[in-house]
Amino acid sequence: MDENEIKNLQEENDKLKQSLSVKSDIVSISAHQIRTSLSALKWIIKMFLDGDLGKATPEQENLMRKAYEGNDRAIGIVNELLLANKTENTTEKKYVFESVDMAEIIEHSIFDFSGEAYNKGIEIIFLKPEEKMPALRADKEKIRVVFQNILENAIKYSNDHGKVFITIRKDGDGFMEISVKDTGIGISEDGKKKLFEKFYRDPEAQKKEIIGSGIGLFTIKKIVEDHGGKIWFESEKEAGTTFFFKIPEFKQAQI
Ligand code: ADP
Repeated sequence: MDENEIKNLQEENDKLKQSLSVKSDIVSISAHQIRTSLSALKWIIKMFLDGDLGKATPEQENLMRKAYEGNDRAIGIVNELLLANKTENTTEKKYVFESVDMAEIIEHSIFDFSGEAYNKGIEIIFLKPEEKMPALRADKEKIRVVFQNILENAIKYSNDHGKVFITIRKDGDGFMEISVKDTGIGISEDGKKKLFEKFYRDPEAQKKEIIGSGIGLFTIKKIVEDHGGKIWFESEKEAGTTFFFKIPEFKQAQI
């Protein structure tokens, strides 16, 4: 093979890699959105089944139960799809930075996860500041993935009837800081050193047989850092965990 042929092959290889990475990103973002919509649907159907929206006839209830089960199967399939896709690196793709309203992402995400929270009797409280917060300079879909991953973990690693508190504030250094505090199982001393490593799962989570892949935090750390931001946490075993991340504020000149 001469030099030219090798160069051509390399170029073809690079193109292929790029299109694979775009594809995997599309799958991840779409699957997250499908799953959150299905979760919201699950919550609504559950309200019908629990009689919260009035008494249903046996026929209506029978149909609702079928809808509930079908919806649950669909959630399971999307979860498998997400898991399979997560093993590919979804963060290689270029970022599209724009002005992003974080409070809106938080409010939409709370709605999307209300089904999961409702099923565990968990209350999600957004301590939204009175004054309007500055926008972030961010890739909206990727920041949504970051926030939803943290919120999903806060629900997943909480015991029934827990509470999740969300805050957003200016940190004074040109960053917006978001925090998600749970009253969940907490993180072990070993976990405190390794939590952001790829595939790491804390013994506390494994003890409780909570399903996961250990790739979410690894992925979102890269996303936050690609934004010029930072992610960290504080935790106490059996008492709860607070995740923080900060992202630069949007300023006209930055784009
Ligand atoms: P997954 O949840 O799929 O395992 P993540 O990368 O999102 O993957 O999280 C990695 C590990 O960090 C989890 O397996 C769990 O042990 C721990 N973890 C993450 N968030 C929390 C939390 N809020 N409370 C307790 N443990 C957590």
